[in-house]
Amino acid sequence: NKSKLLQAEKLTAVGQLAASIAHEIRNPLTSLKGFIHLIEQAVSGVSKSYFEIMKDELKRIELITSELLYLAKPQAQEFKDEHIGQIIQDVILLMGSQALMNNVELRTSRLENLPVVHCVGAQLKQVFINLIKNAMEAMPDGGAIDIVASRPSADMIVIQVRDEGKGISGIPQELISKIGSPFYTTKENGKGLGMMATQQIIFYHKGTLEISSREGEGTTIHIALPAL
Ligand code: ADP
Ligand code: MG
Repeated sequence: NKSKLLQAEKLTAVGQLAASIAHEIRNPLTSLKGFIHLIEQAVSGVSKSYFEIMKDELKRIELITSELLYLAKPQAQEFKDEHIGQIIQDVILLMGSQALMNNVELRTSRLENLPVVHCVGAQLKQVFINLIKNAMEAMPDGGAIDIVASRPSADMIVIQVRDEGKGISGIPQELISKIGSPFYTTKENGKGLGMMATQQIIFYHKGTLEISSREGEGTTIHIALPAL
């Protein structure tokens, strides 16, 4: 599929550019942090809250740069044969307390006897963390997230992450390009990088990602990966 290939290339190029910019931003950022700290100790008569604002904003820049840097990693990490069921269980364990705090139930089904996938485990974990986070954020009043696996053929595994949140309006084919674009976010404090990184990781693993959604009813992200 040519358009998918083109998109994968575009994502890799964008990812590398983003990562190199993030890298360049790091050093001046560290020096700014240091000097703001020094000034805070030295001056009087400047409201403490100004420093708090500056420090919060610096933290935000730091967060963005670390997410951007993450995009560079796909080329650097090693592929291994790993049990996809175990990867998902690890993520559920990791996200458990956050889910509890947000009144969200994480449900799984058919995760037993899942195949082995040739993958960079840490990256696939990041994918499921991103998807679960988005699902939680789509349900501010809580709800359930279902993580369901299926095996449409011997050499393929499909994992769906479903929520019952606000959903997304729009034409299905357009959603994927819109949502995977860098900095596309509809959230006040969103960064719009999670889905881009997610798509990039899935393409890197020779898989596919699809989004289906109904406004007001929920969203399902379908991930298909080659299985061993
Ligand atoms: P962020 O979460 O920082 O906004 P993402 O790249 O993770 O960035 O997601 C981009 C956008 O895609 C979100 O702002 C939201 O509009 C939409 N989105 C992604 N996942 C979901 C979901 N499960 N339900 C509703 N909207 C979603
Ligand atoms: Mg997100």
